[in-house]
Amino acid sequence: MDSVQQGMRQTDVLIVGAGPTGLALRLELERLGIAAIQIDKHAAGLNTSRAAVIHARTLEVLEPCGVVPDLLSKGVAVPDFRVRDRDRILLHISFDDIPSRYRYALMCPQNETEAILQARLEALGAIIERPVQFLSATETPGGLIAELALPGEQKQSLFTRWIVGCDGGSSKVREQAGIAFVGDNYAEQFMLADVHMDWPISRGEVSLYFSADGLMVVAPLPELDGTSCDRYRIVATVPSAPATPSIDDIEMLLRKRGPRVAGVKVKALDWSSSFNLQHRIASQVCKHRTLLCGDAAHVHSPAGGQGMNTGIQDAVALATPLAQAIRDGNEAGLTDWASHRHQIASDVVRMTHAMTQMATLTSQMQRALRDAALGLVGNIPFIHRKLAIRLAELGN
Ligand SMILES: Cc1cc2nc3c(=O)[nH]c(=O)nc-3n(C[C@H](O)[C@H](O)[C@H](O)COP(=O)(O)OP(=O)(O)OC[C@H]3O[C@@H](n4cnc5c(N)ncnc54)[C@H](O)[C@@H]3O)c2cc1C
Repeated sequence: MDSVQQGMRQTDVLIVGAGPTGLALRLELERLGIAAIQIDKHAAGLNTSRAAVIHARTLEVLEPCGVVPDLLSKGVAVPDFRVRDRDRILLHISFDDIPSRYRYALMCPQNETEAILQARLEALGAIIERPVQFLSATETPGGLIAELALPGEQKQSLFTRWIVGCDGGSSKVREQAGIAFVGDNYAEQFMLADVHMDWPISRGEVSLYFSADGLMVVAPLPELDGTSCDRYRIVATVPSAPATPSIDDIEMLLRKRGPRVAGVKVKALDWSSSFNLQHRIASQVCKHRTLLCGDAAHVHSPAGGQGMNTGIQDAVALATPLAQAIRDGNEAGLTDWASHRHQIASDVVRMTHAMTQMATLTSQMQRALRDAALGLVGNIPFIHRKLAIRLAELGN
């Protein structure tokens, strides 16, 4: 650290962001005995539901951090994904046969997942500095000098050997490193709601409804009070969504795209939101001493619930090669990590984009061809199993 100015604060790793990706990275670095400084611009973690699926591979990679029992106790295990067009089942993907001890998708709201990761960090004595905002970084021999904004309009300069941007889709770290975010915007908006409702389909199923009007996903959520069993997450693509969709908006969607049976009734709305989405990928996830993980490196459609999962896996996979680079200067593992994770992110962006396009076909002919192809796929056990493994991210 020969370039460090007298008295400047210094660290081996600066983690920018304490969403699920940054929290997972910090936990794994702590486990490996690597001290880091972690900052987040918000005074506390966001208290909203957002990503709700945790896939098998994510549970596996989080096992060494000791958080899986808590996640399992807060979530609801869902062994089946079914693709439906109203009352027709187009494809059934079962996690029964996947090569993992977690043969299901675990439904758990993102705020619960973040709270569990954060509680584990607190138990280890790791501190997240909040509200502290990353402003800029300048390369210097052996590392970077980061400029941070502290509460009360104070600024601080900090020398770090490595900086990891876990700062979400609008990443400042990515921007400062001059890394392009290549892709496009979706024309549609996404509408999200956590509701209590009477729903005729088993709570052991995540249902993906394909409709000419757009995609709709209905998934069970764990109960808040442990008594009733009527809490669900609904995600749908719509041409334009109100900022906070109402019960009427949700019921209209369910009526138009869901099962034809009478009696689907939304009884209460816990939370709703809408957001614009993009499918983009960082042109590189490692540039000199800047590394990118999670939404900072890739954003895509929530179809298949891959976003948070891929981010947590980026982070856990980074910890070992980063620890090695810090301990003995060997950066070969980081080069491998970067090319592997970039490939995984490209595959995820491609798969979720294809799912979204396939779901929203409007031509009668294309829909008929799609349905026939899905029927065929569902009847070939080898492909069926491959799909389940892919969704559970076990191929990673
Ligand atoms: C409304 C909504 C609904 C969603 N629904 C789904 C879903 O159903 N399924 C799914 O898979 N995914 C969903 N997502 C996406 C999912 O939430 C993200 O993939 C996930 O949060 C990515 O985690 P992350 O830690 O990489 O980034 P984030 O969760 O965005 O965390 C980034 C963190 O960095 C901090 N930060 C940002 N800039 C700075 C800075 N300059 N200085 C310091 N700190 C900074 C932020 O405060 C934040 O805490 C949804 C997202 C939204 C917004």
